[in-house]
Amino acid sequence: MEFTENCKPLSVFKFFEALSSVPHGSGNTKAISDICVEFAKWRGLLCYRDDHNNVVIYKEGSACRENEEPVIIQGHLDMVCAKHPDDPMDMSVEPIQLVIDGDYLRAEKTSLGGDDTIAVAMALAILDSKTLSHPPIEAVFTTDEETGMFGAAGLDVSVLRGRRMLNIDSEEEGVFTVGCSGGLRANCEIPAAREKYGDGLVSYDVTVSGLLGGHSGCDIDKERGSSNKLISRFLFKASKLMPLRLIELQGGEFDNVIPSKTVATVAVSGIDADKFERLAKEYDGIYKHELSSSDPGVRLEACVSGVKAETVTVKDTEKLLKTLYIMPQGIQNMSMDIKGLVQTSLNMGILRLEHDCLKYSFAVRSSVLSQKKELYDRICTITEDAGGKTTSHGEYPGWEIKKDSPLRDAALAAYRDVYGGEAVITATHGGLECGLFADKIPGLDCISYGPELHDIHSVNERLGIASVQRVYDLTCRILQLLH
Ligand SMILES: [Zn+2]
Repeated sequence: MEFTENCKPLSVFKFFEALSSVPHGSGNTKAISDICVEFAKWRGLLCYRDDHNNVVIYKEGSACRENEEPVIIQGHLDMVCAKHPDDPMDMSVEPIQLVIDGDYLRAEKTSLGGDDTIAVAMALAILDSKTLSHPPIEAVFTTDEETGMFGAAGLDVSVLRGRRMLNIDSEEEGVFTVGCSGGLRANCEIPAAREKYGDGLVSYDVTVSGLLGGHSGCDIDKERGSSNKLISRFLFKASKLMPLRLIELQGGEFDNVIPSKTVATVAVSGIDADKFERLAKEYDGIYKHELSSSDPGVRLEACVSGVKAETVTVKDTEKLLKTLYIMPQGIQNMSMDIKGLVQTSLNMGILRLEHDCLKYSFAVRSSVLSQKKELYDRICTITEDAGGKTTSHGEYPGWEIKKDSPLRDAALAAYRDVYGGEAVITATHGGLECGLFADKIPGLDCISYGPELHDIHSVNERLGIASVQRVYDLTCRILQLLH
C-alpha cells in the first residue's frame, strides 16, 4: 500500500507501516520489539530491552538542551487482534493489511492496532528527527497492556531518569486524561448445604434478562441494571414471604462486565406457588418501571420446571440470598474534582452456585486507594458474616489527579498554540498504564492523550488520518515548551 500525500507526517506513517508489517498481538511482541531495537542500533541510540520485550530508547536533548530533565514518551507495543469469527486468517503469524479509507486508516477485515502502534510510530519519528527542539527523551514501549499491563508491571523503572511522562494511549483528540482508577478483583465463596428434593415442592426457572450490560469501568455511570443483583433482590423478597430453596443460580462470565442475564432454579411448596408467581409478575413490573430509561428491555420471568434431585436447605438459601441482597453494587462515590467522573465503584460480574458453595466475583475500582481498600473490606465483612471467605487478585494501582502539574500546564499551552482552543482535562474510571508508572516512580508528572481512534479492539477500528498530524505537532510543541 502506498501512503498518499494526505498521510502526514509521512515519517510517522512510514514507521506505522513498518511496525504493522509484523504480527504483534499481546503475548507476541518479540518481532515488533526487534524492529524498535534495530531502529535504535542503526541510529546509534542507546537502547534497553528486558525479558518482557519492553523497549526503552534514549535520545540526548537537542542542541543547548542536553542538560534539561528528560521526558518519557510512552505507548504499548501489543494490540488486540480482532477479526470476524469465520475469517481463517491467523493473526499470530499473518500481519494486518493497511487500507486508506477516505479520511481514515484501517485494516482489511481486522483490528488496526492503532491502539497503540500510533504512539510507537510517533515516538520513533521524534527519535529520528534531526530538527526538533526537545529535552533528553526516554521512549518507553511496553508489552501486554491489553491483557493486564504485564509489561509495565514488570519494567524495572530504575532504567528511567524521567519524572514526567507523555502517555499516547487515549483515543479522543482534544482530551487530556490526568487520572485513572486503580482496581482489584475480589473472589468470594460461601458454603451451602444441600438436602433431598422434598415432596410437594414446585420448582421454577427464573430468568432476569434483556439488560444492556457493558464495561464495568466505562459504563458503570450509566446506572444499568445488574441481572445478578436484580435476581437476588427478587429471590430474597420471596424468601421473606415463603420457604424458598435454591437449586441453581448462574449469571455473568467476567468480573469487569456488567451482567445482562442471570438464571436461577428454585423450589417452593405447592401451596406457595401462586404467591411466588404473583410476586414474579410484580417484580417484572417494578424492574420495567425502575429501569425504563437505562434498560427498557429488562424482564423477569418465572416458568414451572421439573422435579429435581436436591435443593440448598431453606436456612442456607436465606443466608445466601441475604448476603447477595445487602452487597453493594455500582457507583459508590463520585469525584468532587471532575464533574461526572466515577471515583469508586464495584461490579458483581460473576455469580455461580456450585454443589456445596456459592461463588461470586467483583471488579472493584477507585482512583482513591483508601476507598478501594474500604470497599474490599466491606465485601470481606459481608461475606464473612455468612461464614464465607474472600480473596483478592490482580490488584493494580490508580493514578490520582495532581493538583499541580507543570506538564499539564505545558500541554494545555501547546494545545492552544496548535489548535487555537482549550483542551478538556479529564480522568477515566478505567485503567491506564500511567497508574503503574505513577506508582513506581514517585512524583511522576503525567498526561495521557492521543489521535482520533474509533471502535478500538474491533474490526471497525480506524484512525483519523488528519488527527495524526495535529497530535504529532502537539507532541513536538510540548517538547519545545518543556524546560
Ligand atoms: Zn491502548
